[in-house]
Amino acid sequence: MISEAMQRMTENNSVIRAMFEEGKQMAARYGAENVYDFSLGNPNIAPPAAVTEAAIDILRHEDPMLVHGYMSNAGYEEVRRAVAGSLNRRFGTAYGPQELLMTVGAAGGLNVVLKVLLNSGDEVVVFAPYFVEYNNYIANYGGVTVVIPPDTASFQPDLAALERAVTPRTRAVLINTPNNPTGVIYSAETLAALAGVLRRKSAEFGAPVYLLSDEPYRELAYDGAEVPWVPSFYDNTLVCYSWSKSLSLPGERIGYLLMPDSLDGAEQIQQAAAIAGRILGFVNAPSLMQRVAARCVDEQTDLAAYARNRALLYDGLTALGFSCVYPAGAFYLFMKTPEDESTFVARAKKHRLLLVPGSSFACPGYVRIAYCVSPDTIRRSMAAFRALAEEVGL
Ligand code: PLP
Repeated sequence: MISEAMQRMTENNSVIRAMFEEGKQMAARYGAENVYDFSLGNPNIAPPAAVTEAAIDILRHEDPMLVHGYMSNAGYEEVRRAVAGSLNRRFGTAYGPQELLMTVGAAGGLNVVLKVLLNSGDEVVVFAPYFVEYNNYIANYGGVTVVIPPDTASFQPDLAALERAVTPRTRAVLINTPNNPTGVIYSAETLAALAGVLRRKSAEFGAPVYLLSDEPYRELAYDGAEVPWVPSFYDNTLVCYSWSKSLSLPGERIGYLLMPDSLDGAEQIQQAAAIAGRILGFVNAPSLMQRVAARCVDEQTDLAAYARNRALLYDGLTALGFSCVYPAGAFYLFMKTPEDESTFVARAKKHRLLLVPGSSFACPGYVRIAYCVSPDTIRRSMAAFRALAEEVGL
């Protein structure tokens, strides 16, 4: 009844989404306060007041035909100008509106860029652990995902493995920093070395290998940690950004794709991206949210609240004997499982702890714990984690 491709995708449907649904059922059965749902990266912090105020003000005072009408497929020019201005102030760049396409979140931006770049059979290299929806996005355009195994010592990209993985079939390398699921920020040294590999390979094969930087967590970096600006290392970088996490707006579906003029074939890519968004059926990014984002480009979420959650969880779990990657950014903790991963995930569920298996990120032997939840949930969950630790003999 449905296509073979969709049949495969339905069978491999996201474990994270399935858990989220299971969590809702468990909450109905046991009471929400007795279920510790750490499955989904759905921010628990309300958007900044400025977001609500901007939306109301725009709806009340701006010309409704301009707020709700069709516009250029790339998005409102003044919105793209505002985004470019913010990037230029922060990263010392000189981007203009023609280098930006407003997108339906990071997922929309990734689909647009993959649609633009991939011929059937082209390879996209990713570093485990990675956001596994990438597989679907790449498959949408006949691409092939090439997975580089994790370097579990540092969770930085394994560049020796990249050197071996990039072939004449490689069209792009896709990275995500700060990283989901580890919270690791890729260092400037790593990015410089990565750029070196890609420059060498592009020259060797006589065709650019594009670097796609998926950055929904850029603003979530703790203790003043710097998230290096990826395009400054490599001219053929495209950035997929989203306000889903940074302004707690995942349901609003708003982000942008940056396609710098420094790209090989920049003009063609910029034009194709606007068409890709349209023919994929998004047409343009949500118009009201574009206008809101333009007014809120320099707004911040309550990072201190996530930092407190991080401390509560990391300190609590390590005190119980669990071993965790210390997250410098995003809002996930990646914890080593003291026994076989699926046994551990099932055991945790009995304690009403919903943890996402690391194999969902191509990194078995770990679980991801999303700490964008109320601090109270973390505090109350500690008794369940303690019981779990005792059961596995920590
Ligand atoms: N990329 C990564 C690494 C993510 O974690 C997510 C969402 O969790 C996305 C992309 C999709 O973001 P958006 O909701 O903006 O489409």
